[in-house]
Amino acid sequence: MNNIVAALKTKCPRCHEGDMFIKNNPYALGNMMTMHTHCSTCGLRYEREAGFFYGAMYISYAINIALFVTATVGYYLFLESVVDWRWYIFGYVALTFLLTPVIFRLSRSIWIAIMTKYDPEKRSER
Ligand SMILES: [Zn+2]
Repeated sequence: MNNIVAALKTKCPRCHEGDMFIKNNPYALGNMMTMHTHCSTCGLRYEREAGFFYGAMYISYAINIALFVTATVGYYLFLESVVDWRWYIFGYVALTFLLTPVIFRLSRSIWIAIMTKYDPEKRSER
């Protein structure tokens, strides 16, 4: 598993084995944001310092911009003559709302993957 696949699966960036989140289902809304403090396999502490995951907001912003540009270009290329722009806006807002749990998790996973080197042999004390 490479770093990108591990990030998409929200696996530990150091060993690619431990889960980052308590529940694998991002739509388990009560536990949407609940993360393990450490990797169950290698012991990596996910939140290295207070506010570490604020950087994930930049990743979330980039994902949302990419989604908006893709959806808007797709709308103008394929749907403009069929769907009124008001329905497009409504659909886009609904899509963004529905994808929020997925984007939240993906942003954190990508952020920590950027900041952590893959090293499956390394183990940390808890
Ligand atoms: Zn790990």
